[in-house]
Amino acid sequence: MSSNSGIQIPSRLPLLCTHDGVLLPGSTMRISVDTARNMQLVKSRLLKGTSLKSTIIGVIPNTRDPEHDSDELPSLHSIGTAGLAVQVVGSNWPKPHYTLLITGLCRFRMTKLLREKPFLVAEVEQLDKLEQYTEGDQADGELGELSQRFYQAAVQLVGMLDMSVPVVAKLRRLLDSLPKETLPDVLASMIRTSNKEKLQVLDAVDLEERFKKALPLLTRQIEGLKLLQKTRKLRPDDDKRVGQHLFLLCLTNTLLHISCSITQLKKMPESMPEYALTRNYLEMMVELPWSKSSKDCLDIRAARVLLDNDHYAMEKLKRRVLEYLAVRQLKSTLKGPILCFVGPPGVGKTSVGRSIARTLGREFHRIALGGVCDQSDIRGHRRTYVGSMPGRIINGLKTVGVNNPVFLLDEVDKLGKSLQGDPAAALLEVLDPEQNHSFTDHYLNVPFDLSQVLFIATANTTATIPPALLDRMEVLQVPGYTQEEKVEIAHRHLIPHQLEQHGLTPQQLQIPQDTTKDIISKYTREAGVRSLERKIGAICRAVAVKVAEGHKVSRAESPAEQHNTENKEEGSGITAPPEMPIVIDPIALKDILGPPVFEMEVSERLTLPGVAIGLAWTPMGGEIMFVEASRMEGEGQLTLTGQLGDVMKESAHLAISWLRSNAKTYLLTNGSADPLEGTDIHLHFPAGAVTKDGPSAGVTIVTCLASLLSGRLVRSDVAMTGEITLRGLVLPVGGIKDKVLAAHRASLKRVIIPKRNEKDLEEIPPHVRADLDFVFASTLDEVLNAAFDGGFPAAVSHPQVVSKL
Ligand code: ADP
Repeated sequence: MSSNSGIQIPSRLPLLCTHDGVLLPGSTMRISVDTARNMQLVKSRLLKGTSLKSTIIGVIPNTRDPEHDSDELPSLHSIGTAGLAVQVVGSNWPKPHYTLLITGLCRFRMTKLLREKPFLVAEVEQLDKLEQYTEGDQADGELGELSQRFYQAAVQLVGMLDMSVPVVAKLRRLLDSLPKETLPDVLASMIRTSNKEKLQVLDAVDLEERFKKALPLLTRQIEGLKLLQKTRKLRPDDDKRVGQHLFLLCLTNTLLHISCSITQLKKMPESMPEYALTRNYLEMMVELPWSKSSKDCLDIRAARVLLDNDHYAMEKLKRRVLEYLAVRQLKSTLKGPILCFVGPPGVGKTSVGRSIARTLGREFHRIALGGVCDQSDIRGHRRTYVGSMPGRIINGLKTVGVNNPVFLLDEVDKLGKSLQGDPAAALLEVLDPEQNHSFTDHYLNVPFDLSQVLFIATANTTATIPPALLDRMEVLQVPGYTQEEKVEIAHRHLIPHQLEQHGLTPQQLQIPQDTTKDIISKYTREAGVRSLERKIGAICRAVAVKVAEGHKVSRAESPAEQHNTENKEEGSGITAPPEMPIVIDPIALKDILGPPVFEMEVSERLTLPGVAIGLAWTPMGGEIMFVEASRMEGEGQLTLTGQLGDVMKESAHLAISWLRSNAKTYLLTNGSADPLEGTDIHLHFPAGAVTKDGPSAGVTIVTCLASLLSGRLVRSDVAMTGEITLRGLVLPVGGIKDKVLAAHRASLKRVIIPKRNEKDLEEIPPHVRADLDFVFASTLDEVLNAAFDGGFPAAVSHPQVVSKL
């Protein structure tokens, strides 16, 4: 099939003789060049100066032994492949040579040898077309049938390979995009074939013949693969064996390390500082659970019961954890996203992690990451440092004594960064299933397999988790609890647990539900239940003293004297004979915990105009926030206090501008056109020590200022959140669920939220929704109307309105 059309290669080509390997068109081959003629060709035709000059060269097989060819003319095959050198690498070791990477273009026949020295040059005839094949080129008849059969065999072959390997997937796509005519050359150079067989394909200038020559080679490869797969099936534990082999290989390496260290130790005098260092190292190596693991005993039904028994509410989280465990069980692998529980402190994140370990029958270990800013904390210190030690991961493994514990990475959002490297980067390696089977701690200096460890992370907020780390994790939000949920949690879990911790029984101490409610509302203000648990602990301690005293009395003294003791303590509120339970009533509660910490009623704060309640989101959960404003004579200045961020300051300016521009509509003009004329305004956000920022206070500031300027009180049972625009629109904000729970905790009745946040109410427990009256506002007008009794401006009762009328 000589070519008269298409791209032409030069009629004179420098020749590169290969003595091992045959280059076929459409394939790329690495050729080692070390004979004098070939070296000359590379130097003078491919390398000009130091860069590679792209030249088409003829690659032609040499059938004679290369040792003798420096002077003698090589025995050249008559057909070769014109190719393009894409890379040349030179080296002087062990002797001077080049390595070329050459891509084959098309066949040629050598018609006349023109030059023998310094390298071969020949006159050639191009044998294959060199152009883009088009759809129309599809052959028919016997050739068409042959090419179709060949294509199908190629597809079958690639289908037998592991598609998850990127090269194989690429090859599969290539099969469809390559013209069928090129397949025999491409596949013959890829599959296992001898040089002789490749030469036969090269010699098959006729396309039909080429298909016929290459097809049996392809079929042979397919049969070979089938046989291989059959034998694999007979040995299902093949993979396990490879795993064991790898493990042994690592172990041998580790043993080598240990024996070297022992040899070192033997040579050292005990007084040398290195002696202790090496000894500690060896002790560590011996204690690590290299191959010791606990047996997984997961039963999903039992896991469900256990999770339910350990935790009240949190239905969504428990369901997702069960799904996670079920998938892990079915796949019997730990690969997959790392679960990350995100929520305020004390909502049970750690506790769920602990339950997961229990359901699996695995050891549990918590690694606190808060404040970690040195990567050696994760990866260990090199042994050259004095006081060097392994990182927290390896230390944790030593503590639990097995290589498959559940590790809880606590507070990943509080990782720091410093000059000592980024600990997040080290953590990435720990969590990556592709890398963590050979995690190398700097102290150990030999890899440890972490692939059996189940990692779970916790955080208060996702905002500060390094993005690369967050990408590896599946975030599960754990919201705060309502008051009712807290009461249930206290009575089902916290009180029994604290009683047990303090050696008390329900016959000795009883806390009625009303007392629990008082503890929750008057002594704690939190999204979780941690302070609540501490307060219950404090009660238990106080009662423990009474009970212990009581016991002593009953053992040491006569019943009559015992009676006297009771009388003495009568009226203190926390005493009873030892056989009677001590019941914590409001008096006892005050006695033990002192006066209530959070007793000021919200309504007491709202007795003057110029105060409104906003809702804020913090990593600790939602909170209510009072915004206060006052006015004084001045020059129209705005003062802001309470550690505000830039966004909050901008909201304040926006609010003032909007009120000034709408002063007339809302009857705030107070005689002059501008309500702020001759007036300074001071806006304060209490809890001044806490930095506050974010746009969601916009509506609260407007309401607070409207109250100040109109002299009217804001309703004392209303809280609000929403971003504002200069035109008076209310934009959606985040954290609605936590904010609404905070309003509910503070016993407020009405919550104003942006209209576009209406959908977020779905996440709020129905009984909380039922307790609250929601107002969905899309404009500031709607906000003000909902925030003031009788609307805004007031329909009749307001004095300014009366005077206007
Ligand atoms: P976190 O890790 O979220 O800060 P913890 O897991 O340490 O919180 O929880 C604090 C305490 O509250 C633990 O004693 C835990 O058992 C208890 N707790 C929290 N939520 C629940 C719940 N839903 N049911 C039972 N106990 C809970």
